[in-house]
This record gives sequence, structure tokens and C-alpha cells, in this order.
Amino acid sequence: MRWSKSCIPTFKENPAEAEIPSHRLMLRAGLIRKLTSGVYTFLPLGLRVLRRIESIVREEMNAIGCQEMLMPVLHPVEIYEESRRLDSFGPELFKLRDGRDRLFALGPTHEEVITMIARDDMKSYRALPQCLYQILIKFRDEIRPRYGVVRAREFIMKDAYSFHRTEESLEETYRAMEGAYRRIIERCGLAYRMVEADSGYIGGNESHEFVVLAGNGESTILSCACGYAVNSERAAARERSGGRGAPRGEAYDRVSTPGAATVDEVARFLSVSPREIVKTLLYRTGDRTVAVLVPGDRDLNDIKLVGALGDPRIRFLEPAEIEAATGAPVGFAGPVGLPAGTAIYADHLVRDYASMIVGANERDAHLAGVVAGRDFTVERFEDFVWAREGDRCPRCGEPMEQSNGLEVGHIFKLGTKYSEAMAASFLDETGTSRHFIMGCYGFGISRMVAAAIEQRHDAEGIVWPAAIAPFPIVILPVNVHDELIRGAAERFERELADQGIEALLDDRDLGAGAKFKDADLIGVPLRLTIGKKLKDGMVELYDRASRHAEEIPVPEAAARIVQRIRS
Ligand code: ATP
Ligand code: MG
Repeated sequence: MRWSKSCIPTFKENPAEAEIPSHRLMLRAGLIRKLTSGVYTFLPLGLRVLRRIESIVREEMNAIGCQEMLMPVLHPVEIYEESRRLDSFGPELFKLRDGRDRLFALGPTHEEVITMIARDDMKSYRALPQCLYQILIKFRDEIRPRYGVVRAREFIMKDAYSFHRTEESLEETYRAMEGAYRRIIERCGLAYRMVEADSGYIGGNESHEFVVLAGNGESTILSCACGYAVNSERAAARERSGGRGAPRGEAYDRVSTPGAATVDEVARFLSVSPREIVKTLLYRTGDRTVAVLVPGDRDLNDIKLVGALGDPRIRFLEPAEIEAATGAPVGFAGPVGLPAGTAIYADHLVRDYASMIVGANERDAHLAGVVAGRDFTVERFEDFVWAREGDRCPRCGEPMEQSNGLEVGHIFKLGTKYSEAMAASFLDETGTSRHFIMGCYGFGISRMVAAAIEQRHDAEGIVWPAAIAPFPIVILPVNVHDELIRGAAERFERELADQGIEALLDDRDLGAGAKFKDADLIGVPLRLTIGKKLKDGMVELYDRASRHAEEIPVPEAAARIVQRIRS
């Protein structure tokens, strides 16, 4: 392909709107263009990468016996009423009306549609198990679209759904899918972790995420040398036992802490570590006030709070409400002497305190030596805080390491959630009607393009793994006005094409420096430079990843390149 006649619009400046490297580089290397918030065009170079990932995904799905199909994007909204998901999707569901004023949704995922297919067309146990998949655009009106195609409102997903008679059969397909996902990411040449994810509201069921490791990823994960890994928003905070806080005395003391309201200020003022302090956070859920106690050196995790209290609308008390409830301004709340009717919940780590420092519910004062159970009563212990690096592995007890990444895949044992809601059943061996046991398996194909760049880039640009690079090689004649150089470049292009290798020929009338910069930016694995040494019979082959360059005699060059690309 000739660059001069291709739509590969590169540019030098960093786009202000892009916060992470993959987003910047996808724009700068001419892979994508934004139409509006969270909506992107894949330009030819971007589409090439997308297609390569897609074909790896398709091969691995077919290899485990999954059948490809294609479901509609346009969904009558009633199907979400039937599955009772209209509420849980909430504003993320794109809705529109047809000419007869009927309400439709643009598919965010396809459990409903596929469950209807199974209900109508898999009537006997003899047809089970089955696994079906598609590669299709999804629509989700994300509250905060960001990072380019990482969190878009229109994106490409591979979604698969499996139907089973027994849990054992689901387990078998789930493990096959795990293997396929591992192979997909490994074939794409990326480092990743499979992490335990929340079974959440569906309870008891298994779910795993596949996270491509990258410093700027949205997901934080904790992993252990024993192989266990978990999404840190879901991980329980487990510490080495050994306790917290000063030994308990007869009774607590009131200490004066003028102007010290935050944990750090109180710790500094009293010359103690933030570990010794317990924060009291006040929330309103329904018409109740709840105090949640967490260690001073730990952060509350909103997702866990919402889960533990079962209230997505839970909110912090306003400063005026705090003052009304505790008699003190913000920063001095504590569990001792709260008004009757205020429930006190605490993170499990609060059990480790021999005694603790807490707010006194009085301006400029704290209480030291407070003991749970003696000085106040905890109604419920729950897991409320973010886990972090160094927390103990639940499997082997060793400290876990923290890393970041982008979730590219999510596999889930659904059980009978959808088949029950939508009355989808089959007849078993005894003629009894039973609900399908289901699994669902999503893979973000367009997000994977960004994840690969997020993991594989340097200061100059993208460093594509060979398996998903848009081209295997760029041929770079340093001067297109030099007949010899240009002729040699075109000959190499033809010779490679004869071997089935499509090169990108940078035939643009630009200075060599600008072309080298662009070649590094678009990150194609190999670069064949044809320059002044051509008259001595030499060309240069440069490896983008290792940055190693070697001079090769012209007659050997094509064969060497073919061998490198095929190896
Ligand atoms: P997230 O927590 O990132 O919102 P999710 O749990 O909503 O993801 P799933 O519904 O499991 O995601 O979707 C399967 C896969 O689709 C994800 O693993 C991810 O790779 C991709 N994906 C989900 N939402 C988006 C999006 N807004 N833009 C691009 N890809 C997405
Ligand atoms: Mg989401």
C-alpha cells in the first residue's frame, strides 16, 4: 500500500483532550477520529488492527466449538421489561422511538435476545450444551466516556452465550472459554492477569475478568505469586494479624485537638500514626442515618458500601446534617454517644483494634482509648474498604502486589437468572421442563486495540506486537526523487507481495527525518530503509521493538525479511 494515497493522517502535537498514551497515540498515528463524545471512526490503519484481533478471537471461539451468529442492534424495549433489566441498565440504555412511536433500545448486550432464541429453538436436552457468539457493535450511554475507545458509547464486542442442562456442563464450557481467552491475549502478544471478579447481586456465581496490564489502566488488581489475582475494588482487605491501636485501659480519655479535623491533622497533633485512628463516616440511607467506621489509613470503597447496604442512592450527610446529628462540625464525628437510632457499621479491620482514637462529637476534641463493644456497639461488621498492595492473599496468606490494567474480557456464570425471568426452558430426559443454565462471555475488541497500545508504546510511539500490527513492515525510501532509491523500494514492495506480505510503502515526498518519526509513531514491527548506501548494495532493516538496526546486502534482503516475518 502506498502511504501517499492512503488515509493515514499522522500529526506531531499531543491532543489536549487525550489523557492516556493509547488515546493520544491512536489519534496521532491516525488510527481513529472522534465524531462526538465516546463515538469514534476507525480509519484504515486502526481497522486493520481491529480486524486482526477480531480474526484471532473468531478462530479461538470456533476452536472451542462456539457457533457464530449475528443478532440485531435494534431491540424492542419490552424484552428488557421481561428480563427486569430496564432499571439496572438505567440511563446507560440508549432509547429511541420508531415512526409508530414504539420504544426501542440499541443493544448494550444480548442476553435477552439470545434467551428468546433458546426458548423457541432449543426445546430438548438433546440439543444441549450449545454456545453461540457474535461480533457486533454495542451501544452504552456511558456516564463518563473517556480514554478514546477504552470507554466509548459505541464499541465492538465479541459476546458469547452458552446453554446447559447441568452445572457441570456449564463448568466445562466456562473452563474452555477461560482457555480461549488466555490464548487470544497470548496470541496478541500481551501480558495479562485473569482476576476474580464480583459475583455481586447475582450471588454465588463465578465471574472472572481478563485484564491487560498497563500502568494507566482503569482497573487496579492485586495478585499473588501463588497465582491468585483479584480486582482490587472487589478484594477484601486482609492484614497480617498483630492488631492495631494502643493497649486498652480502664476507660477512654477526652483529648483536646484544636483545629485538627482530618486524620492526618489529628495524627500529627497527637503524634500517633493514622493507623491508630478510626474514621466515622455518616451516611443517609432511606430515612436512617448510618455511621460507618473504617481505619484512618484506609479508604472507603463506594461500591462495597452500596453493596453492603443494598442502596444505590446512599449519600454522605451534608455538613449541616452532620452538625445536627453530632453537635460538632465536620471532622469530629465518632461512635460514642451518637443519637439513638443511628446504626453503627464497621469494617472488619476495626475488630483488630485493642483501643482506638475517634471523634468526640464535640468541636476540637477526640476520644482516645475507645473500645468497641464496651464504649459503643457495632451493629454489623462488613467489608467496606479498598484493598491495597501488601494485603494478604486469601488463598495462601502471602502479601499481594498491586498493578493496573484494562479489562478486556469478562466471563460469567449466569445460572438461571435470565432463563427464569424470561421463562426459557427445555425438556430433560424425564420429560420435565427445566430452566436453561447459562453462561455469558464478553470480549472488548475495540478496547483491546487501545489496551495493546497502552501496554506496548514508548516515547516515540506505538510498538505493535507482530500478531496484531497493521502492517508487518514499512518500506522507507529516504528520497522519492532519487530514481534508484524509489525503484528499489518499489521492487521490494513487489517482491514481498509475491510472498503474500503486504508492506506499507512510504512514498510521500517528505524529508527522511519526518518519515522516520512517522514510522516510529505508527509502530510497525520492521522498517526497511533505502538510502544512500543503496549504491554500495546495502539497505537497512530496523526492528521497532528492540531498536536494533542492521545493514543487509540488497540481494539477501527480501528473503531475510520474509523469514523474520514468518518466524
Ligand atoms: P466496565 O466495568 O469496564 O464498564 P463492563 O463490566 O460494563 O465493563 P461487560 O458488560 O462485561 O463490561 O462487557 C464485556 C467487555 O466489553 C468488557 O470487558 C470490555 O472489554 C468491553 N466494554 C465494556 N464497556 C465498554 C465501553 N464502554 N467501551 C469499550 N469497551 C467496553
Ligand atoms: Mg460498564
